[in-house]
Amino acid sequence: MQFETRCVHVGVDKDSTYNSATTPIYPSSTFRWDDLKTHRGFDYTRSGNPTRRALEENITALEGGLDCRATCTGMSAITATMHMFKPGDQIIAGHDIYGGTYRLFDSLFRNMGIDFVFVRMGDVEQVRKAITPKTKCIWIETPSNPLLNIVDIAAITEVAKAAGLITIADNTFLSPYCQRPFEHGVDVVVHSTTKYLNGHSDVVGGCVVTKTKEHADKISYIVNALGLACSPFDAWLVLRGIKTLGPRMEAHQRGAMALANFLNQHPAISHVYYPGLVDHPQHALAKRQQSGFGAMLSFDVHGGRPVVEKIVGRLKLFQLAESLGGVESLIEYPDSMSHASMTEAARREAGITASTLRVSVGIEHPDDLIADFQQALQD
Ligand SMILES: *Cc1c(COP(=O)(O)O)cnc(C)c1O
Repeated sequence: MQFETRCVHVGVDKDSTYNSATTPIYPSSTFRWDDLKTHRGFDYTRSGNPTRRALEENITALEGGLDCRATCTGMSAITATMHMFKPGDQIIAGHDIYGGTYRLFDSLFRNMGIDFVFVRMGDVEQVRKAITPKTKCIWIETPSNPLLNIVDIAAITEVAKAAGLITIADNTFLSPYCQRPFEHGVDVVVHSTTKYLNGHSDVVGGCVVTKTKEHADKISYIVNALGLACSPFDAWLVLRGIKTLGPRMEAHQRGAMALANFLNQHPAISHVYYPGLVDHPQHALAKRQQSGFGAMLSFDVHGGRPVVEKIVGRLKLFQLAESLGGVESLIEYPDSMSHASMTEAARREAGITASTLRVSVGIEHPDDLIADFQQALQD
């Protein structure tokens, strides 16, 4: 089955009683046993639930994994993966990973004895040099947020395999429609399903996808033991969202490419960060590794914060809000919003300026999105 067909069909057929065309929501917390030895596959909803199972089978098929656990947020999915490690273990991650992930690593899991080193993940030599006998894992996130730097996944997994390390990739920014990290040697994939997978800005959720029995059993045990699984209703919403993932991503990308080209030639804009532009420094890598350029883009304006304020105040279709991946276009200011938890020095070091804005391009018509920016950028 092709990708779009898997989105619509895999896992969803769970009702043999009435043959409903869509997956029912099973809110039941518990399930009857037939006798002391037999139940019908589910006994308690923290451990497993038919609606959640439908979603897990669906995402497994989209990423090309062996198994999946759907969790209540992206952060809980990442939390689950960190419990694969022990005090004394070291994990290498990029310096420009998602802010919430950085906070989870650098405070909570560091306090529990796991060590983290943050490197420039785009530089494979830096990653190789950071490996010590204690290193157990390399954490990959590509493209990065908000400046859309691309990590060469295959190059990193090659280094990891040579050193006996596992690799975990956060694939939230592109979704499996545009990037499938397992195909480049990654061991575990996580998502914030809050973003493109659900796609309608009405759920927070996450998932961990595995490709070996050993990792699948470990993650299943951790998610059940910690109680990280998502509710049947949330699973149902994400499953519903995924059915249109392919057509939505096409519409998202069409708008992003058009907007990136428009902004790139506009005199009020000093720089556009979008891997789909031929002048993006890693355009060739993105083209090779991804099956689409996604719909996240950032840009720097001439004139700093006063100009930023003028633009976000004038835009009508782009809502000033964090998050991404929904059908409606959003704009946000990393300096005071998504990346406010970083110090100013760390933001500047990462290349985020007082003139940087980040856009999540929705599925509105590109002409309307461009017209909105045209009026917002006028003198
Ligand atoms: C949003 C996001 C997360 C966290 O997901 P939540 O659903 O908000 O918990 C993790 N990684 C990336 C790349 C994200 O964009």
